[in-house]
Amino acid sequence: MKRWQLSIGIALCLILFVLISFPNKESQTSLPLVVEQVETPLDHFHKLRFSSDFLLPYQINYDENTVTISFQNIHHIQMQDIELLDDTFFVSNYFDPQSRESSFTFHLENYPYMYLSSDPTYRKHDIFFQKYPYRILFGKIIVIDPGHGAFDEKTLSIYDPGSIVGDLVESEINLEVSLLLKMMLEDRGAKVYLTREREHCTENPRLLQRFEMVNFINPDIFLSIHQNESEYDYPNGIFVYHEHKEAFLLGQEIMHQTAKIADLKPNHVLNDPLLTLKSISTKKALLIECAFLSNPMDRERYRQNDFTWLLAKGITQGLVKYFENQYFYVE
Ligand SMILES: [Zn+2]
Repeated sequence: MKRWQLSIGIALCLILFVLISFPNKESQTSLPLVVEQVETPLDHFHKLRFSSDFLLPYQINYDENTVTISFQNIHHIQMQDIELLDDTFFVSNYFDPQSRESSFTFHLENYPYMYLSSDPTYRKHDIFFQKYPYRILFGKIIVIDPGHGAFDEKTLSIYDPGSIVGDLVESEINLEVSLLLKMMLEDRGAKVYLTREREHCTENPRLLQRFEMVNFINPDIFLSIHQNESEYDYPNGIFVYHEHKEAFLLGQEIMHQTAKIADLKPNHVLNDPLLTLKSISTKKALLIECAFLSNPMDRERYRQNDFTWLLAKGITQGLVKYFENQYFYVE
């Protein structure tokens, strides 16, 4: 070997040694990341918090069922008491040899509804996700009262049909809406009871018996379904009544969603000490007057085949929106 060849060889070895001993300065600033599960008062939601003492640049991608959140240049992660469910949550680590950056990626599968919040310094990120996909009402107990439809206590011959305008009978419409509503709410995971399931049935509980039934079940939510009537032609659209302030926001969501979906005028959510609402202990209790049997415009709507279905869908959507928005009240 010639002397110049040896010199080049030694020089190359030295360069290699320097490269190995003094790696890219960027990679030495990689950060620790803490991942923890934070309690939420809503047992169908989980909250994951990613935090660090340093800025946390991240990338988030999600499609219908999966969210992927990647943190670049993370040195190590510390997982704190995460009781995550099953294999729907996993973490992968990727090292990019070119940039010498490592990244951690969190995959959350089958959690379609997610919400990410970050503090302004990017040191903390919260991800909310749903434990039971698409079943936002899981664990909720709901009693639906299809208004009217009971026989008089003593004679058992006088039936209470509610309002009757032409061939429209309130008790029948209330029952139809309630049966559809029960089906839709159960589909979203709720446990649903009806105070009656039939028309013209002598067994149908009367008002006081219904109150006893509701107070015995002690549901999370109580909804009494009615159709309105006025001595005047012009009042139309939906009114919702509540007794306790705890029911106001739910009443708002139900009124607006129902008005939108069933194409009705949204009127007001009113505080009114109605007998039904006063007699039960459930605070989230609403009496819904869907529309006016006495209004020509609303009457047109009642004649459409799918109107009771649209009313049930609107009320369901109101409940769904209400529970989705609970995120924003939680810390
Ligand atoms: Zn009524």
